[in-house]
Amino acid sequence: MQISLQNQVAVITGASSGIGSGIAKSLASAGATVIVNHSSERSADEAKAVLKEITDAGGKGITYQCDVSKEDQVIKMFQDVVSEFGTVDILINNAGIQKDSKFTEMTIDQWNAVIGVNLTGQFLCAREAIKEFLRRGIDPSRSIACGKIIHISSVHEIIPWAGHANYASSKGAIRMLMQTLAQEYGADKIRVNSICPGAIQTPINKDAWSTPDALNSLLTLIPYNRIGQPQDIGNLAAFLASDLADYITGTSIFVDGGMTTFESFSTGG
Ligand code: NAP
Repeated sequence: MQISLQNQVAVITGASSGIGSGIAKSLASAGATVIVNHSSERSADEAKAVLKEITDAGGKGITYQCDVSKEDQVIKMFQDVVSEFGTVDILINNAGIQKDSKFTEMTIDQWNAVIGVNLTGQFLCAREAIKEFLRRGIDPSRSIACGKIIHISSVHEIIPWAGHANYASSKGAIRMLMQTLAQEYGADKIRVNSICPGAIQTPINKDAWSTPDALNSLLTLIPYNRIGQPQDIGNLAAFLASDLADYITGTSIFVDGGMTTFESFSTGG
C-alpha cells in the first residue's frame, strides 16, 4: 500500500515554516506539485529554502506570496495557480498566528488579526478551492474525489486556553466550518477534514520548548512524552489527501501524543 498524490496540485498555506513546510515536503514526496504559500516579502527566502529542499529531493512546486486574510490576494492566488497548473486538487488550510493576551486586555487588533488569518483566511481559501473543484469535476486520472480540503486546527478546538481567547475561538470555529463544508459538498465528492495538532516544535510555540525547564513542563501535558514534529502532521496530511482516505470526511483527527486524554488526570484527578 503506497500513498500517491501523482498528477495532483496542492496549495499549502503558510508553508514557509513549521507545520506547513512539513506538510509541503510530505505531499511533494507523494508526488503532488506543491504551492508553498507565505504571507510577506520577509519570509520569501524561507519559502524558497523549503521549495529547494523539495526540488532537491525530486519534487515539484513553486513559492507564492499571498496574505490569506485578504480576499483579493486569495482570489488571485487561486487564479494564478489554475492558470499555471490547470487546476487545484488539494487545499491545506494551514496558515495561522497567535496574538496572546489576558482577555480583559485583548485589543480589537489582536482579536481581528487572529480571526482574520486563522478563520477568515481558511474560509477564503476553502471557498476558492471548492469553486475550482466544482468547475473541474471529478477526473479519475487524478483522484476518486473531486477535491480535498484539510484544515489545520488544534487541540484547542476542544481544549479551552486561558490567555488565548482569540486563538481558541478561531480553532473552535474551524471545526464547524469543516463539518459544514463536508456536509454541504459531500454529494459533490469533496472531502473536508481537520488535523488537530498538539504541541509541535515550530517557531509559533518556541517559548514552550526552547529551554529545558519549558520543555519539561510541556511534557507533563503529553502522555507519549515527546514534542511533535512537523513530519508527524505531514504524514497524516498525505494520507488524508490520498484516495486511501476516500471514506473519511467531516472529521477532526488529533495528532497530539495523547494530550487530549488530559494527562493531569493520570493519577486519578
Ligand atoms: P509557524 O511556524 O509560525 O508558521 C506559520 C506559517 O503561517 C508561516 O509560514 C507564516 O508565513 C504563515 N502565515 C502567517 N500569517 C499568514 C497570512 N496572513 N497569510 C499566509 N500565510 C501566513 O507556525 P506553525 O506552528 O507551523 O503553525 C501552523 C498551523 O498549525 C497554524 O494554523 C497553527 O495554529 C497550527 N497549530 C500549531 C501547533 C504547534 O504546536 N506548532 C499546534 C496546533 C496547531 P509568513 O512568515 O510569511 O507570515
